[in-house]
Parts: sequence; structure tokens; C-alpha cells
Amino acid sequence: MTSPRIIPRAEHPISRGYIDPDALRVLYRLHRSGFKAYLVGGSVRDLMTGRTPKDFDIGTDARPNEIRRLFRNSRIIGRRFRLAHILFHGGKIVEVSTFRQRPEAVEPTEGEEVSEDLLIRDDNTFGSPEEDANRRDFTINGLFYDIGTFSVIDYVGGVEDLENRTVRTIGEPEIRFREDPVRMLRACEFAARLDFEMDPSLLAALDATRTEILKSAAPRVTEELLDPVRRGWGTATYRLWSKTGLLEALLPELESEAGYWAEHPGPAKSYFWRMLENADRRHAEGHPVSDTVILGMLFLPLIFRAVRTKGPGAHRLEAPNLLLVLEDVINPIAARMSLPNHAVHQAKQSLYTMGRLAETNPNEPRAKKLRARTSFPDASVLFSIYAAASNRYRAQAGAWEEAARPPRRPIPKQEAEDAEE
Ligand code: ATP
Ligand code: MG
Repeated sequence: MTSPRIIPRAEHPISRGYIDPDALRVLYRLHRSGFKAYLVGGSVRDLMTGRTPKDFDIGTDARPNEIRRLFRNSRIIGRRFRLAHILFHGGKIVEVSTFRQRPEAVEPTEGEEVSEDLLIRDDNTFGSPEEDANRRDFTINGLFYDIGTFSVIDYVGGVEDLENRTVRTIGEPEIRFREDPVRMLRACEFAARLDFEMDPSLLAALDATRTEILKSAAPRVTEELLDPVRRGWGTATYRLWSKTGLLEALLPELESEAGYWAEHPGPAKSYFWRMLENADRRHAEGHPVSDTVILGMLFLPLIFRAVRTKGPGAHRLEAPNLLLVLEDVINPIAARMSLPNHAVHQAKQSLYTMGRLAETNPNEPRAKKLRARTSFPDASVLFSIYAAASNRYRAQAGAWEEAARPPRRPIPKQEAEDAEE
């Protein structure tokens, strides 16, 4: 056991006033019942740096069944690792997990290469606070805030790394990346969103381990690909993914068309990044883009590349061109990303509708039907983003944006249904 660095209340900025009242209630009840009750993970990092946490996760030495007994409004979830969700009004959930150890890498089966395969498959042993800190990914994510003393408890050097603005793995980066390659994506994401540097040894490990990312479960990776754009720091994150070669490993088509290392980048090189900037700006203005729009942005450069190869005159955005390539381009990537069918369907519909917007004047009679399509809102956002980023179709996109504003008179229901395919 090592003794942690304790930062007393007077020497850190976390005040109870910044903690969600329901999370505070949970912390206090655990504490009064004789358990350790810590705020853990991202919320401590965010409060230490003056940010607003997305959620307030709690760590405790109470076992799941004890948590369940303390809170009538709770349920136990998770098979791999059981933790408690405490439910509050308005659907709010406070997550409480029992301290746990860093899971053992499962014994490789015969024939498997031992040193290469550290992928975690079992994740279910309770542990001490110290062990719980050490199982986490980065030092800046391994801090605790103790409701019993109002102090911050640091087993991993996270406070110093916050001060030095460094993303550093807890433990050997290469081992931690092999255990769970998604951590490589997360390292870049935290560096991008906090504007921190990645530690040199982390970068070296990332370079050596990059293609391991293909071993991670596709839905987890897809979540990581969408999340930064949803949250307004897509540009910086994708830049780091591109620079570190993670984008190349995951979406080689996109990297070669738009990426940092592309030897002969297509025209997408410039507009792809401007689309991401545009999406970040929308987020900053309170209008985050939908997942469908994000997928559309990721697919567009590949669609255009495919359209380009169809010969002269085929470089335009119009719907018939898109129809020629939509399935061929999207289906294989969607399968690799394990995208749900409905998400794939919506992305295709929006891209197709976007093509229709490019060839239709909003004042034409047939424009009414386009407007009534379910995919119209996403398509018009995508069209605006593409037009602004590529400097093509700008007037047309502007006219359609105008048309996308809520109609003064709702479209009669029958008409809307008629327009559906
Ligand atoms: P945010 O929710 O704002 O994106 P966060 O740090 O809370 O940031 P989460 O994905 O919610 O990130 O994870 C919560 C905490 O769980 C992290 O702070 C980290 O301590 C730990 N954690 C998350 N993912 C991993 C991982 N792949 N390996 C080890 N620890 C992890
Ligand atoms: Mg979180």
C-alpha cells in the first residue's frame, strides 16, 4: 500500500456547491451509514479544472447489495461488473460502484500468443480505493473527492498532471493500451478536449500499439468516434486521431481522402476538417448535430471519392449520383462499425435527401414533398455544413436553411404522410 497525496479543502477548488444535489445526497447517505463515499473519475477532473461535469459517478466500499438496501430508488445493473443506479426525478441517474481491482487478464487459451494478448475479459473483483484508482485509465481520471473530509485523494499523480496539463496512463502505457485499446482513442480525446499534451511515453506506446484498436468491440469504438463531435470537440480529436494513425487504422478510406498522412489527398482534405469545425461551432452555439449528421459527415468524403471515379460530370452532389454509390460505400463501413440498421438507414436517407436538396429549388412545387420527408431536418443541416465547408451550393443551401425554419402553419398530416416514401 502506498499512501496517497491528500489535498485538503483549502488547497483545491472543489466546493459542494458545484456538486449535483442528488449526487451529494447519495454521498452523504453512504458516508453516514459508515461507508467510504467518494466522487470519482471524470467529475473530479472536471471540477478541479473549473469545468461542468457530465455526470457525477460515486465510488464506495459498500457492496452492491448494501447499496441496494440503502437506496429504495436503486437498481443493480451490469453482468460483467455489478454496480448500482440510483434513480431520481426527471430520469436522472447517479451511478454508484464498489471499489474494484484492476482485472486480471484472462489466461490465454492454448495456441494464443501470450505476451500479445492482454485484452481484459473479466472485470469483477472488488478492491481497495487504491486499487480502484490504479485500474483507471489516465492519472487525471484517477482522482477521488472524499465527502467525509472534503479533500481530494490522489494515488496516481493526477493532480500534478492536471497542473502540467498532461495526459498520462496509470502504469505502463503499452500494457494499458493492449489491455484495452479504446484507451488510445480516449487519450487523444482527453488531450483534445482539455488542450493537454500526451506524455511522450504514451505517444510512443500509441505508435507501437495502434493497430490493436481493431481488436476492440466495434460498438464501443463507434461510440468513441461519435462522441467528440456530439460534444463539440470533434475537430481537435479527429486531428489527433489522424496524426497518431488511429484514424488510418479504423477508417483508412477517410484517412487517405482527408487525413493528415494522406499522400494524395482528395478534395475532401480541406472540406472534411471544415465540416468538423462547423459542427463544433454549432455545438458552441447550442445546436449540436445529430448522430445521423455526424455519420453523414464521415461518409461524405468517401461518397464523393466514389462519385468521382464514375467519370466526368459525375462529381456533382445530385441524388442520382449518390444513389449509384451510397450502398457500395456505406454498407461495408457500417458493417465494420457495427452500426445499427436504423442508423445506417437514416444516414443513407439523409444523404440521399441532401442530394435532392442540391437539385431542387426550394420554391418549386415538388420542394414541399422534400420538406415533409423525415430525413429533411438532418439532410438540410448536412447540406448547410457541406456547402459552408466546400464553398459549393452556398446559395442553394442558404435557401433551404430558410425553408427548414419551422413553418408558420404546420404541414397537414395527410400531406406529410403522402410525401413519405
Ligand atoms: P466524460 O464522461 O466527461 O467523457 P469521464 O472521465 O467521466 O469523462 P467516462 O467514460 O464516463 O469518462 O468514464 C468514467 C471513468 O471511468 C473515467 O474517468 C476513468 O476513471 C474510468 N474509465 C473509463 N473508461 C476506462 C477504460 N477504458 N479503462 C480504465 N478506466 C476507464
Ligand atoms: Mg463520465
